[in-house]
Amino acid sequence: MDKKTAKKMIKCSENLSQLLETLRTIESVLSETDDCDPLRVDELVDVTSLPTYGGEDPENTVGVWSWDETSLLVGEGSWADCSIEPRDLSGGHEEDPPCNHRSVTTPDGHGAYCEICGETLS
Ligand SMILES: [Zn+2]
Repeated sequence: MDKKTAKKMIKCSENLSQLLETLRTIESVLSETDDCDPLRVDELVDVTSLPTYGGEDPENTVGVWSWDETSLLVGEGSWADCSIEPRDLSGGHEEDPPCNHRSVTTPDGHGAYCEICGETLS
């Protein structure tokens, strides 16, 4: 495996779990060598600038390699030991934003409901 291939594989990962799978794949390919001191993933690619998949940057990025809106890719050492953990959202009391109702007339034509949340609208 060369740098270009590894970078491409990482770039083509479409989500957080795919990214972790990719990193594990690269790691296992690298370890399948006769060399007694195989290359590490972080020697092949810059693991401190992996793609992220949306959501806010976590406040603390120590040991956090990537993230999406709801999860963080965390861990140390081998990628096989890294995992995807739900973000700790307990600090905030965020409520779902109010629904921007989209009114749809009911089949009988006498009422309306919201296409998004299903609430009955008058
Ligand atoms: Zn609604």
